[in-house]
Amino acid sequence: MGYYGKVSGVFLIFLQIVLSICSWSELYAPTNLTELEKPLVRREIKIPDIEEFKVLKSDFHMHSVFSDGYVWPDLRIIESWATGLDVIAITDHVEGPVSRPYLSGDDNTSYELAKGIADYYGILLVKGGEITKKQPYGHYNALFLNDVSLIDVEDPLVAIENAVKQGAFIQWNHPEWNTATRNKFEFQKKLLEKGYLHGVEISNGSEWYPYVLDWALENNLTLMSNSDLHGLIMGEFNLDRFQRPMTLVLARNRTLESVREALDNKRTIAWIGDRLGGKEEWLSKLFFACVKFGRVEIVNVEKNEGKVRVENISDIPWLFKFSGLAASGTHRLEPRTSSIIKTKGTGEVIVKVLNAWIGSEKNLEVKVTLE
Ligand SMILES: [Zn+2]
Ligand SMILES: [Zn+2]
Repeated sequence: MGYYGKVSGVFLIFLQIVLSICSWSELYAPTNLTELEKPLVRREIKIPDIEEFKVLKSDFHMHSVFSDGYVWPDLRIIESWATGLDVIAITDHVEGPVSRPYLSGDDNTSYELAKGIADYYGILLVKGGEITKKQPYGHYNALFLNDVSLIDVEDPLVAIENAVKQGAFIQWNHPEWNTATRNKFEFQKKLLEKGYLHGVEISNGSEWYPYVLDWALENNLTLMSNSDLHGLIMGEFNLDRFQRPMTLVLARNRTLESVREALDNKRTIAWIGDRLGGKEEWLSKLFFACVKFGRVEIVNVEKNEGKVRVENISDIPWLFKFSGLAASGTHRLEPRTSSIIKTKGTGEVIVKVLNAWIGSEKNLEVKVTLE
């Protein structure tokens, strides 16, 4: 064997080693299980516009680690975006210094930490805080503040006054916790007289307050429905069956100014579970924006029997009962479904919307002409 023969033999061995390393590294290379990965996506909640108003899905009451919540403020934004919201307020309790050890900052910090990511996700972030006083005073969210620290004072009236001076919108939270003075609401009457009370939660978390709905409408207050989240949204609400509780805000534009204008003019609807609570005007317009009645088709002329297609183009479920000569019975229309309903010819029917409340014991009723 000559010199070149020796070299090519060495080269072949070298090549074999290189190839075996390559196949070895191929064998033991990490396998990326892409089927396991799931990018963060948003649950889009479809609700048609009502006249010139967009229906913004809003939650004006939730907490972060900067009071007694369990999450960092920016997680509230991500969670809200993923669950279909457009507008939120992180309203940490303001009393005293930041209560958790290891944390610094003040009453404005949760807003400041969340603002950048809110802008990134397109969530409108309202600056606010929760004034938290013993009964019979109760808890109030001051929304649209400039400086949250200024409402951190002991006297409940002064705290609210300091918010009002900044042009805040004051919302009374979970009024039914006020059991000691239920149905009296003395302090709140005083706030009303002074023009310091603008909105009230007719639902909070999974609680629905029918009595408060009546009281709010009597006093011309803005109706709110909020989560009052402390932990993770997935650990507090059944999102497999329902949307999270929310306040539907009928706003001219998707801006904070428009949201504020809508709150000031009481254009809101509370939505919790299958229930809606609101003023008759807005609830009836919402119903007709979501539920579309087709034309009656007569299938048996002799018996005057017909059918009509009814479609729910929204993500709100609707439960309603017909009364009148042309149609009867109770019907449930799940989100984005349609149904064929039997008719007796054509004519006007009264539709009682069993999941839409315009008073503690009063459902929305609308007239529909089946033709
Ligand atoms: Zn509270
Ligand atoms: Zn709260």
